[in-house]
Amino acid sequence: MTKTCRVCDMDTDEPTAVALEHTNSCGGRVVHLCPPCRAEQGLIPLDQHPEGSDGFPLYEVSAP
Ligand SMILES: [Zn+2]
Repeated sequence: MTKTCRVCDMDTDEPTAVALEHTNSCGGRVVHLCPPCRAEQGLIPLDQHPEGSDGFPLYEVSAP
């Protein structure tokens, strides 16, 4: 399923859901990134968020 990357605005065949957009209306929209942008941003995929995550973006902690 092709999605548009939120960062580079290009269509990608391998979108990764990384967050939920919170709006006033019910039901947030899923934010997708292409693989290179997800790696560059260091965002944790939505399906790997800890239980109870509210859908806000989570960043991988980079080693010092
Ligand atoms: Zn991208």
